[in-house]
Amino acid sequence: MDYQALADLLFPNVTETPEALEERFPARNAPEGAVITRMAPSPTGFVHLGNLVQGLTSERMAHQSGGVLFLRVEDTDAKREVPGAVEVLIDTLKHYGIQFDEGATHDGDNGNYGPYRQRQRASIYHVYAKKLVSEGQAYPCFCTEEELSAMREKQEAAKETTGYYGQYAMWRDRSMEDIQAQLDAGNPWVLRFRSTGSIENQFKFDDLVKGKLTITENNVDHVLLKSDGIPTYHFAHAVDDHLMRTTHVVRGDEWLPTLPFHIQLFKALGFKLPKYVHIGPLMKMDGTSKRKLSKRKDPELALTFYKAEGFPVKAVYEYIMTILNSNFEDWRRANPDAPADTFKFSPKKLNPAGSLFDYAKLTDVSKNVISKMTAEEVYALLTEWAQEFDPDFGKKLASNPAYATSILAIGRGGKKPRKDLAVWKDAKDYMGFFYDEYLLKPEFDAKFDKAVVADALTRFLDQFDICDDANTWFEKVKAITTDMGFTTDMKAYKADPTAFPGTVADISTFIRQAVTGKTNSPDLYTVMQILGYDRTVARIRKVMEEQN
Ligand code: GLU
Repeated sequence: MDYQALADLLFPNVTETPEALEERFPARNAPEGAVITRMAPSPTGFVHLGNLVQGLTSERMAHQSGGVLFLRVEDTDAKREVPGAVEVLIDTLKHYGIQFDEGATHDGDNGNYGPYRQRQRASIYHVYAKKLVSEGQAYPCFCTEEELSAMREKQEAAKETTGYYGQYAMWRDRSMEDIQAQLDAGNPWVLRFRSTGSIENQFKFDDLVKGKLTITENNVDHVLLKSDGIPTYHFAHAVDDHLMRTTHVVRGDEWLPTLPFHIQLFKALGFKLPKYVHIGPLMKMDGTSKRKLSKRKDPELALTFYKAEGFPVKAVYEYIMTILNSNFEDWRRANPDAPADTFKFSPKKLNPAGSLFDYAKLTDVSKNVISKMTAEEVYALLTEWAQEFDPDFGKKLASNPAYATSILAIGRGGKKPRKDLAVWKDAKDYMGFFYDEYLLKPEFDAKFDKAVVADALTRFLDQFDICDDANTWFEKVKAITTDMGFTTDMKAYKADPTAFPGTVADISTFIRQAVTGKTNSPDLYTVMQILGYDRTVARIRKVMEEQN
């Protein structure tokens, strides 16, 4: 068979050569050890935690080595494409601190190794397709769907591995005349790889996450170009990652089964194989067993979920780092205030079996992160969140920044800052009572007589002075306690609860509930200072009236 003649027949318009492409996309001028990597998502519109895990891994590896991170859009499957998906992806990843140095952007491409959208690279793939045909490494296959199904049925019936290989590779060695006849008839064809691999052979392969793998050679003649001339993922990634001078392919381990083919393909094309970083799936506990996070069952897989709940970006980032690198938490304890990107990230520390996603842990991390923020920072982030997800609350926060900030400053800044907020969604419940419209009517403990509560509140109002310091203020509360026959001696009360009607904690709670509507609130003295004399008194009076 004259393979060159076949190549010319199949690709008459391809005149560019691989050599010319090598020149057009020269080796990058990157420092020794620099990682050149990419995110290569399909624009399906769903941005999930897995994207973030892959994005952060790629981003850290590229940027901490002085390398390059680029965005390549894998849009070869037009059916799955959702308009605007690329923009959503870029914006979401940017929100989480992942910035691309080159690649697809909102306004076209940025960089010298483009185009960065695969559908625009068809002519490039065809150069390599033609080369493979001219070398006898690829051939056209005219099988119809019916023929392929019949083949599969036959294989299943004979309990053989299904696929287009060996004796089943019907078009592998067909004559030029047969091919010509099909082309003349205008029949569609795909381009297939001529595999020389055998499943009898195994070889060793080193993956940066999975470690040493034993790989069985591929013997299937996989499709390289579909009948519309658009490449499959396998072929496109080999050509693209070579020409874009990718040194590391960071991707999900769902690609491991086709890795043998990819390795074979790089070799057939004469390309140097990049290093592979196959990331395991994100898992969660479901009862006592682990399972993969699923798009259908787990709303927490979507990144929009974290935004709507009001997790600060920093918290999600910190948490993802925690599950990716087992030593991150220790590092964080030793370096509580260091920027997260000064941590030395290593793909070798990723769990090969995948990471366990634990919502409760994320919440803890988030509480910590928020507790370390300044009141101003919390105010800015919370208000931004509320304006989008709770506009009424957002309006209140925005109407008086100084007031809201003073509330958010309570218990902040010391050695042991309060950890009331895990997500911005918690904020209204925590601080809503500072806004009269959100103040709830208190429900006093039924074990106390209404008159007792009223008595405590009256006594409090009688001596309430907004100028008192915290100490004096509390001494007065204690005095009311003992005057009413309650006790300030918690030990004595515990020893014999029947000896007193209640304790100083009960008296404080009456006052707290009258002022905040709740049994729990930040420091009551400070709350009153922020509310001011008039509002504090008005609230207590109102409750007393309602009690009557
Ligand atoms: N488009 C592929 C995916 O979304 C990319 C895999 C890769 O990064 O090579 O899974």
